[in-house]
Amino acid sequence: IVARATNADVIPAETYAVLLREVVTAESPGLVLVPYSANGLDVAADISARTGWPLISYVNEIKRHGENLTVVAQMYGGKILADCEVQLPAILMINPGAFAEAAPGPIAAASVQTIDAEPTLASGKVRMVAIDVPDYADVDLTTAERIVCVGRGIGDEASIDLARNLATMLGAEIAGSRPVVDNGWLPKLRQVGKSGQKVKPKLYLALGVSGAPEHLEGMSQADLI
Ligand SMILES: Cc1cc2nc3c(=O)[nH]c(=O)nc-3n(C[C@H](O)[C@H](O)[C@H](O)COP(=O)(O)OP(=O)(O)OC[C@H]3O[C@@H](n4cnc5c(N)ncnc54)[C@H](O)[C@@H]3O)c2cc1C
Repeated sequence: IVARATNADVIPAETYAVLLREVVTAESPGLVLVPYSANGLDVAADISARTGWPLISYVNEIKRHGENLTVVAQMYGGKILADCEVQLPAILMINPGAFAEAAPGPIAAASVQTIDAEPTLASGKVRMVAIDVPDYADVDLTTAERIVCVGRGIGDEASIDLARNLATMLGAEIAGSRPVVDNGWLPKLRQVGKSGQKVKPKLYLALGVSGAPEHLEGMSQADLI
């Protein structure tokens, strides 16, 4: 089901929530999966509050036992992994990068239904006036296989070149903790953590990073740290 609004480039979370609520009511799904994203945070909470269905956030794994599900969810910024038994219907908010891309294969034919989002958008209280799209052509850390991350311990902007050279040798992307980005030493797109990118590389080398919970939230799923 695709929602489109001809007069708007961007649909606010408020509108998605109303549209998704209508779909959920009509289709009665057993499970609603929402991405952990700016919109996902608003939409999942809205649907949960209005349906009364349980919502589990920061989900990294889903295991099925017949009709029941167990999910593994992060708590305390990824310091604890909780096994949660889920009663269906339920809403799960999935961490970016938590699941590997599925191998391409034949899929059953599905019909695509388009919903006109215009009336819902017009009756909403939120108006999007502008959106700044980050330049992902520069870097997409969420798909990087190797990351060299620098923290405040790097000392100054000039020293980042040392880490950048190392990253080049390793075929890795350079990333930073929040203080590094707040200092303007690296662009925001290269920030890892709660308010940055959630990454899952094979190798994550952290230099001068203390491992605050908000940082761990973005990288604890890396294969080798
Ligand atoms: C709502 C919220 C969201 C946040 N989002 C994020 C986020 O997305 N990403 C993020 O990273 N943080 C985030 N933070 C901030 C987070 O709490 C920490 O303050 C931050 O991660 C610390 O960054 P750091 O590890 O680089 O610095 P510090 O904690 O200062 O650590 C520096 C480390 O470098 C070491 N060091 C110093 N000198 C050297 C040296 N010469 N050689 C080697 N090591 C050295 C120190 O021993 C220390 O371990 C958020 C905080 C809040 C409240």
